[in-house]
Amino acid sequence: MTDTTDLQSTLGCLPIEPAAPRPRRSRQARVVWGPRTVTVGGDAPVRVQSMTNTDTVDAIGTAIQVKELAQAGSEMVRITVNTPEAAAQVPYIREQLDRMGVDVPLIGDFHYNGHRLLTDYPACAEALSKYRINPGNVGKGDKRDRQFGQMIEAAMRWNKVVRIGVNWGSLDQELLAHLMDVNSKRPTPWDAKSVMYEALVTSAIDSARLAESMGMDGNQIILSCKVSGVQDLISVYRELAKRCDYALHLGLTEAGMGTKGTVASATALSILLQEGIGDTIRVSLTPQPGEARTQEVVISNEILQALGLRVFVPSVTACPGCGRTTSTTFQVLAKEIDDYLRQQMPVWRTKYPGVEALKVAVMGCIVNGPGESKHADIGISLPGTGEAPAAPVFIDGEKALTLRGDNIAAEFHQLVETYIEKRFGGIPATEVA
Ligand code: SF4
Repeated sequence: MTDTTDLQSTLGCLPIEPAAPRPRRSRQARVVWGPRTVTVGGDAPVRVQSMTNTDTVDAIGTAIQVKELAQAGSEMVRITVNTPEAAAQVPYIREQLDRMGVDVPLIGDFHYNGHRLLTDYPACAEALSKYRINPGNVGKGDKRDRQFGQMIEAAMRWNKVVRIGVNWGSLDQELLAHLMDVNSKRPTPWDAKSVMYEALVTSAIDSARLAESMGMDGNQIILSCKVSGVQDLISVYRELAKRCDYALHLGLTEAGMGTKGTVASATALSILLQEGIGDTIRVSLTPQPGEARTQEVVISNEILQALGLRVFVPSVTACPGCGRTTSTTFQVLAKEIDDYLRQQMPVWRTKYPGVEALKVAVMGCIVNGPGESKHADIGISLPGTGEAPAAPVFIDGEKALTLRGDNIAAEFHQLVETYIEKRFGGIPATEVA
């Protein structure tokens, strides 16, 4: 317990500052398709993007996956453009999406032959809203700058944004060799990792400056330096953010599968986003067999929502359960409600504006149940072991009713639906109870 002296000193101290991501103002790129403009950087919210894993030659399959990713919340979707056959299908994919009413901007992922594909397939160059260029894969020797220049020219001709995306696994070897050489002449040479970091950052910034020297607007350039280690990513992006004000695309490359990939991405991205670093993110998750590609979008959304940077879906607060509850009723109910809210979001976003801010609580017993439920917009406190078989429901912080019997889950589900319809559909919430 706090004694009086402690209380006085506590009252006299300064208020605890709420944690919040630090701002970093970068330039702002505009990724456009038709009337849809996705701003990246500047005062824009941190954007979510994803990438298909279909064969781009399969235009219908790719269009369907793009639609799924967009519906899950991806604001830009990248597709592989690796062959003439793939480039030829890009306008058709765009057309299919437009017909389905999906206006998400498409990004073309180019390596090795992007200069040729963007020149030989102008309809592909036009249908894409942004080109990803990897400076380590544009060509060697004197071809490097020429082929890079061809891609920049295509971007300027079609007024497209470029992402200059350096990758740990495909770093410009000539630049790395040069920096190694410079390093060996230092009185105290840096370690190999520091030279690698320098090569990543230098490759990205030098390529962006080269693009600007060719006439490209610096606002239309986004940079990335992807690596697969959490601490490496943090080191590289801190430096990148210090040395330039281009908008930054943030993500671990080859993050891995399942829990490992999710945790690694969340850890690395959260630290950098909290420092204000990162204007658009992608979680590069290897899908587990049978897992939907949209999982990478769900995780991106959750990272941004957890940090308080964006709100995408209503949140469900559920307790972990413990020895006070022996049934799985609340786990099942929490999962059902969570799944239901996510499934409905593509429709609700337009039907019930603001519904993504909804907070639902599903709690296992009386210890924290009523308190947590009162903090939510609508919450239920289920009976724990030995408690009376009654489940009070709280709406807008007040106890509204008590559910009893075997049908508690279905009845609460219905109450949530009614609450959403009334609150976000324009009818007073007080009528729900
Ligand atoms: S609310 Fe009850 S059941 Fe849930 S974790 Fe806390 S004590 Fe356990």
